Amino acid sequence: MYSHLLRVLAFTLLTPLAIATYPLSLGNSYNHNPSYNKPINFYTTLTPLLSPSAQVITPSSPLFPTYTHQNLKSHPPQYSVVVAVATERDVSLAIQFANKHDIPFAAKVSGHGTWAGLGEMKGGMNIWLRGLNSVTLSKDGRTAVVGGGTMVDEVVKVLWAGGKQTATALGQCIGITGSGIGGGLGPLMGVYGLGLDQFVGFRVVLANGTVVGASREENAELFWGLRGAGHNFGVVTEVTVKVYDREGQSDWVYRQMVFGGEKVEEVFEAINGKLDGQPGHLSHDASIYQGADGAVLDLRVFSNRFDAAQLEKYVESFLWLGPLENSTTLVTDYMGLIKEMGYDAPAGGCGLPTGSFGSVFGVGVTNHVPSAMRKLYDLFDELTTSVPELGGSYIFIEGYGTEAVQSVPEASTAWAHRHIRAWPNVVLAYRAEEINPTLEKTVAEWGEKLRAAMLEGQEKQESYVNYAVKQESLKALYGYDAWRLEKLRRLKKAVDPKSRFGFFAPVH
Ligand SMILES: Cc1cc2nc3c(=O)[nH]c(=O)nc-3n(C[C@H](O)[C@H](O)[C@H](O)COP(=O)(O)OP(=O)(O)OC[C@H]3O[C@@H](n4cnc5c(N)ncnc54)[C@H](O)[C@@H]3O)c2cc1C
Repeated sequence: MYSHLLRVLAFTLLTPLAIATYPLSLGNSYNHNPSYNKPINFYTTLTPLLSPSAQVITPSSPLFPTYTHQNLKSHPPQYSVVVAVATERDVSLAIQFANKHDIPFAAKVSGHGTWAGLGEMKGGMNIWLRGLNSVTLSKDGRTAVVGGGTMVDEVVKVLWAGGKQTATALGQCIGITGSGIGGGLGPLMGVYGLGLDQFVGFRVVLANGTVVGASREENAELFWGLRGAGHNFGVVTEVTVKVYDREGQSDWVYRQMVFGGEKVEEVFEAINGKLDGQPGHLSHDASIYQGADGAVLDLRVFSNRFDAAQLEKYVESFLWLGPLENSTTLVTDYMGLIKEMGYDAPAGGCGLPTGSFGSVFGVGVTNHVPSAMRKLYDLFDELTTSVPELGGSYIFIEGYGTEAVQSVPEASTAWAHRHIRAWPNVVLAYRAEEINPTLEKTVAEWGEKLRAAMLEGQEKQESYVNYAVKQESLKALYGYDAWRLEKLRRLKKAVDPKSRFGFFAPVH
C-alpha cells in the first residue's frame, strides 16, 4: 500500500514525457524579440536554416504546450519560440540565430528541472532536444553513445536488451544528460560511481554555436566542468557512457518497512550504525509522507550483491524496532527494482509531466542526526496537517551506497560532494489551476525552515544542483574549496563569457 502511495506521489508531483513528432502549425508566426522589440517571423527566417526534420513552433500553435511543459510550474520559463531540433547542426544554428537576434535560450528534455532561475527566462528560445534521442552500443561492448535528448529509461532499456547496464539516475523519465551533468544519483552509484562518472566524452554546442568535443584528451577543463556543473557550459548533443556487463536476471533483493513517527530517531540511529561499513551495493532510501493515520517513515533497503538470506539478516536491526508494515523480501532484477521504487516509465514511454506547483529543498549529509530528523518530521507533520493544500508533499532521503563514488579522486570532476552519504530532500507541492501566491510564500518559508532542520548537526550546507531551488550559495552547490569556484569561473569566462547558459545554477 505504501509503495503504491509513494508511486502515486512520485508521479503526480514529479513526472515526465514522450517521443512525438507533430505537424508544424503555421498559425500566427510573428513574435516579439524582447530586446529589439522588433517582430521576427521565425518560420521564414529560422525554419529554412534547419534540417528538414527540425520544427519551429511558436506560442500560437496548439502544440506549443507539449514542448514547453514544466513539471513544477511555480517558476516556468517563458518562451517565444521552440526549436525542436533533429541534428546537432540544428542546435548550433538555433543558438547562432538566437545570438544574432539577442534571444535568451536554454535546452529542455523532460521539463523536470526545478531550479527557480528558469523562470527568469522571458521571450526565450526553447531548444527542445528530444529529437536527439539515440543509444548505440559500441562494438567492444564497453561504452554506448547516447544522444543529448535521451531519457534515462531509453538508455536503461537498450543497455538491458544488450546485456549491459550503467549507473544512471533512478528516475527513468528524466534526461540522461540533464541529470548526469549535475551528478546522477541512483542505485548503481555505489558500484560504478555517479552518473557523471560514466561520462567519458561529450559533444557540446557552446554559447557561440561552435561544436566541440570534450574528454580527458580534448578540452580537458571543459570535460571536468561538464561533470558536475554541466548546465553552465553548452548544450550536450551526445555523450559517450561507460557500460558494464549485466549480472544475473534476479540479482536485486529489496525490503520495505514502514514505521510510525515515534520511531524516527531509532530508525536513523540504526541507519547511522550501518553507514561506516556500508558496501557500495547496499542502499537505505527513506521517505516521510502522510499515511492514512499520520505521517510515516518508509524505509527501503536494497542490494545487488546480498542474497535473500543475507538481506534478512541485515534488516534484523530495523525489524527489531517494530515497523507498522514489513514487506517480504523481494528478489528481482534492476527493472523490477525501478518498478518497485515507483520510478519506472509508463508503458509506451515517458509522458508529459502532470505537474504541480511547488519547490524542492535539498541538502547532502555525511551522517544522519537523529534529533534533526525528529525536528524535520515534526515540522513536516505540522505543515502538512495545518495546510491541507500541501498535504501531498513529501520528503525523500536518498541513501545509495557511495563506495565507488568515493573511490574517484575528489578533484577529478566539478562534483564537490563525494563525501556526502545521504541526500534528504523536501518536496513541497500543491495542485491548482494557477499559481497561488499565499501558498508560494508558505512553500518558500517552510522549505527553508525544513532545510534548516535537516542541516542541524552538519558542518555546512551542501546541496545537489539537480535538487536545488536558487537560494543555495555557489559554495553549497559547487564546493567550499576556493580553487573549485575559481576554476569554474575561469572556464565560464572562457566558453560562455556572456553567461548565455545562465538560467540553471549559473556560476558567476
Ligand atoms: C521524477 C523525478 C525523478 C528524479 N530522479 C532523480 C534521480 O534518481 N537521480 C538524480 O540524480 N536526479 C533525479 N531527479 C532530478 C533531475 O536530475 C533533475 O530534475 C534534472 O534537472 C532533470 O533533467 P532533465 O533534462 O530531465 O530536465 P529539463 O527540465 O528538461 O532540463 C533541466 C535543465 O538541464 C539542462 N539540460 C538538459 N539537457 C541538457 C543537455 N543535453 N545539454 C545541456 N544542458 C541540458 C538545461 O539547463 C535545463 O534547463 C529527478 C527528478 C524528477 C522530477
